[in-house]
Amino acid sequence: MRRGLILLGVLCGFVCGAEAQRLPGNVKTEAYELTFTPNLEKATFGGEELIRVKLEKATKTITLNAAEVEFQELSVTAGGTKQKGEVSLDAAKEMATLTVGKEMPAGPAEIRIKYTGILNDKLRGFYLSETRKRRYAVTQFEPTDARRAFPSFDEPAYKATFAISLVIDKGDTAISNGTIVSDTPGPGEGKHTLKFSPTPKISTYLVAMMVGDFVCREGAADNIPVRVCAVPEKAELTGFALEAAQDILKYYDKYYSVKYPFKKLDVIAFPDFAAGAMENVAAITYRETLLIIDDKTASVDAHQAVADVLAHEMAHQWFGDLVTMKWWDDIWLNEGFATWMAWKPVEAHKPEWHEEQQEIQQTGGALSNDAIASVRAIRANADTPGEIQALFDGVAYGKAASVLRMVEAYAGPDVFQKGVNAYLEKHAYGNATAEDFWNQLTATSGKPVDKIMKTFTEQSGAPYVTVQSACGGGKTQVTLTQERYFADAAKMKEGSKEIWQIPVSLRRAGSKEVTQKLLTEKKQTFELPGCAAWVYANASGRGYFRSGYDAATLAKMSEEIETSFTPEERIHFLGDVWTQQRIGRLGIGDYLAVLEKMKGERSRAVVAVMMGRLGEIHDQIASAEDRPKFEAWVRDFLNPIATELGDKPVAGEPEERRGMRADVFATLAQVGRDPKLLARSREVAEQYMKDANSVEAAMAGNALAISALQGDADLYAKYLDRMKAAKAPEEYYAYFGALGSFSRPELVKRTFEFALGPDVKSQDLFVIFGPIGNPPTQEMGWELFKQNFPAILKKMDAANTVTLAGVAGFFCDAKERDDAQQFFAAQKLQGSERILRNAKDTVNACIELRGLQQRNLTGYLNR
Ligand SMILES: [Zn+2]
Repeated sequence: MRRGLILLGVLCGFVCGAEAQRLPGNVKTEAYELTFTPNLEKATFGGEELIRVKLEKATKTITLNAAEVEFQELSVTAGGTKQKGEVSLDAAKEMATLTVGKEMPAGPAEIRIKYTGILNDKLRGFYLSETRKRRYAVTQFEPTDARRAFPSFDEPAYKATFAISLVIDKGDTAISNGTIVSDTPGPGEGKHTLKFSPTPKISTYLVAMMVGDFVCREGAADNIPVRVCAVPEKAELTGFALEAAQDILKYYDKYYSVKYPFKKLDVIAFPDFAAGAMENVAAITYRETLLIIDDKTASVDAHQAVADVLAHEMAHQWFGDLVTMKWWDDIWLNEGFATWMAWKPVEAHKPEWHEEQQEIQQTGGALSNDAIASVRAIRANADTPGEIQALFDGVAYGKAASVLRMVEAYAGPDVFQKGVNAYLEKHAYGNATAEDFWNQLTATSGKPVDKIMKTFTEQSGAPYVTVQSACGGGKTQVTLTQERYFADAAKMKEGSKEIWQIPVSLRRAGSKEVTQKLLTEKKQTFELPGCAAWVYANASGRGYFRSGYDAATLAKMSEEIETSFTPEERIHFLGDVWTQQRIGRLGIGDYLAVLEKMKGERSRAVVAVMMGRLGEIHDQIASAEDRPKFEAWVRDFLNPIATELGDKPVAGEPEERRGMRADVFATLAQVGRDPKLLARSREVAEQYMKDANSVEAAMAGNALAISALQGDADLYAKYLDRMKAAKAPEEYYAYFGALGSFSRPELVKRTFEFALGPDVKSQDLFVIFGPIGNPPTQEMGWELFKQNFPAILKKMDAANTVTLAGVAGFFCDAKERDDAQQFFAAQKLQGSERILRNAKDTVNACIELRGLQQRNLTGYLNR
């Protein structure tokens, strides 16, 4: 799954004290036959179900999962005897126990259930999705909501085959995991029945079905039929997604030794979807904005998002769907793998997008998240649905992917690929654990991958490696010391016990040669040939750690940053320097001085990283008196590149340059407060409103948001109008997202009213975070958030409510921190304890950073 809205990483784990909520484990599932009759108008459905199971021992009871369904009829056939059964429900545990009069013998049994359920509006289970024209019935089951569509053994280890039939209105069609094997009229007036081919053995959370008037664009790759489907109004905008899906499938067929394991691939977008996308077997579902784009006018970022998310969900067809984790505590391996893998096919197909550089940005983001003192370890226990849901966080995605990236570089890409394939072949159509995965890699590579993985998955946080090099006898001695990296400088001073096994890649000044070593102790010295002025410990930037250097060495390294570092290394190195000032081992001026050495930089990803901290410095570190001076520094720093790029696209220029122009333009306007660009933003916004095709899409989104900052009610009304008329999701969300940037009090209020009204889908509630995240409107946004909290909670899809507590981390001030902590503690959102602790640590680290560096910044700006 790809999360639509990730706030802060969280886990409840043991601390919630929730009871275990696992099935007793006395049956094995074989096959489900399911017939659904949805009634879209009444928002209900009827279900008929046959489950073939094997009883492990003689029993009178069978316990399975069920929620929000009403049992009508129930019987169990075992040992040649059919018996009617009674049902007792445990709503809190979402379980149903079926009891029969006479004991059933061990061996095969058939459970038959007739039941009814509701098509809910909470974006989980079997639910309703709506356009202005009509309703659709669709599903989202991961992690624990298949039980809302059919009583089931709803845990990933209970794999079975699924034969699904859907009884639907005559004019409608349906899509599911299988292919349509028959289409017959009835039962009943105006209905037809679609029967789908049974799936191979899969987990319940990967079952999917959608009912409506979807229109599909058809293609194929490697003899597998591929379709991209959408509601009819959006069907013409699926061309790029189809092309990308075909290319990605062909790439994976080469990477994996097992060819695409299902009969067809459908990719379907619909209007209401809580996550970003979901890897259901052969029926990947999507939020429209991540799939549907106008190929001619969409920005490079929109194109890239479509390809990246497709590559993620398609990677899961093997890793997750073909081989599935035994339990949710290994969801990180599933999500980390798909996140790590997704860059590969896109990089191969679109080298000009430089995904290899963005991978290193992802590692940097994960390291920042991991610097929070209360961050969870990758491996964590989870039993209840709330705890399981909380595992889908930045740790499971970004950190797990980054650790895999490091291990791949350490084992060697070819060896790593062999290990992955051996693992998939061994566990195909079954379940496996993380140990199965890394033991295989250890065996294939002959290197201690298992030991490395254990230290990175079982300990919280990430390592910080201090690098000291000295020259003697024509050789360089490199001494590495590891400690845990905390964003909070005081915590770093306290010291830490953790020891990681860290693959380090040492590269000396003036050399391209990389020496790989494994740092296994707190402090170790390695020897390199020749005398070097400096040694960088993370050559290629793929190591999951931060490294630090003394000021003199750093000065030498930054002199050579443009000449002897690759773009990936520059990205990682800048993060290292930022970290050093974050923990008080350098001044913020040292960081800005390194940026000033990089004025010739023209790789988009590197420039993005160079600009990435400027907003934070402006909003959170600079004093009110220093802000105008810092704004002037930003203008001086960025104007040369802005002038070189020009403010209009040039025919035939690389896509990277277009994206970079939009990025630089936005930073100059938002952080540099460049009056010329503020005025230019308004011009671009006006032009875009007149004719969306006349403006580069990436520029338009930024221009709309920047204009909104000082926009009045007239502009607000114009945005609403244009938004309603927008055809492509990118255009719609350019206006929609900008609503959160208006800063006049009456307009901030209006954004809340609008978001909570009927015209905004619950998946899009994120717009209210805009005013809270924006310093000028933060106070008012937070007050409105508190006042409207009951309505927000009611509107939000149930699965995401816990993430609301992440708002407590938006502040950089003790008073607001305490207020937010108190507010959320009183709400008692299930599973929110860890989120709140993370949020508190984040705010504290921000306050501390200001304390450490505000005066240094003054000094640097007045130098
Ligand atoms: Zn995923």
